[in-house]
Amino acid sequence: SRQFTRPLNDLANQFNVILSAVAGAERVFNIMDEEKETDEGRKEEAIKSIKGEVTFKGVSFAYEEAQDTLLDVSFRASPGETVALVGPTGAGKTTIISLLSRFYDAQSGEILIDGKNIKSITRDSLRAQMGVVLQDSFLFETTVRENIRYGNLHASDLEVEKAAIAANAHDFISKLPNGYDTILYSDGRGISHGQRQLISIARAMLANPALLILDEATSSIDTITEMKINEALAKLMEGRTSFVIAHRLNTIQRADLILVLKEGELIEQGTHDELLTRNGFYADLFHTQQSKQNVL
Ligand code: ADP
Repeated sequence: SRQFTRPLNDLANQFNVILSAVAGAERVFNIMDEEKETDEGRKEEAIKSIKGEVTFKGVSFAYEEAQDTLLDVSFRASPGETVALVGPTGAGKTTIISLLSRFYDAQSGEILIDGKNIKSITRDSLRAQMGVVLQDSFLFETTVRENIRYGNLHASDLEVEKAAIAANAHDFISKLPNGYDTILYSDGRGISHGQRQLISIARAMLANPALLILDEATSSIDTITEMKINEALAKLMEGRTSFVIAHRLNTIQRADLILVLKEGELIEQGTHDELLTRNGFYADLFHTQQSKQNVL
């Protein structure tokens, strides 16, 4: 399954770089984002802030010709809603995220953010509105403090600490040999998987994006850290439109919209209760998995 998590990791790296670029160099941005012509001759403009309404209208996409990876996908998420992407490996969940962040553009259909076609929005300004929290979050080889500050290079030390407190990361950070000045490594050495996630949640808190992308952990994390992560994520997701590649039943059940993907098609969508009533693919998945480990 390694190959399927890689695009998201690339995504996270790019977001981090972009976030720091945004925070550090708005001037440069103004120059960079002066109306660029797109392939289709459409003007692209930078967006400053968004509410976070996301609409897919009949979106089809193929990485390679003659093989649709997504076929006629349509859904709408209101600002602040949580969207759970569910379906087997290879169903197209990551591809939806890649299109939303314009790593690729759809061949047909439209993706709208606050009613605006994303092809008319510059990639950088779009991604500056997005935060990403992955199972294997990217760490820079620098202090805990600077790792969190990548979310917003303008943030003061106090703001960094506040974000860490909100992300339930402050306690463990305080117990590290050098507290916030402890050096981290990109391979995560010295801290646990769960702690790594808490740092990445703190970073996202600081970035304060309108859109969130979460790749829910499948690996087992100790119960206490998992509770801390869940609580921090709930706080982070509040008021942001969140797309969760979801594995945990808990998350899925609470989502405002569940998108059930199968071989590139959005075969069902709705809330947990609606999908159970429908008694289709999702209901089957739910009933068979429920008895196992609460993981889809
Ligand atoms: P999921 O996230 O649901 O596991 P993906 O969106 O990663 O699914 O993949 C959907 C399909 O697209 C799969 O068949 C996968 O092999 C294919 N795919 C994913 N990324 C690429 C790529 N960069 N180039 C070609 N095919 C890809």
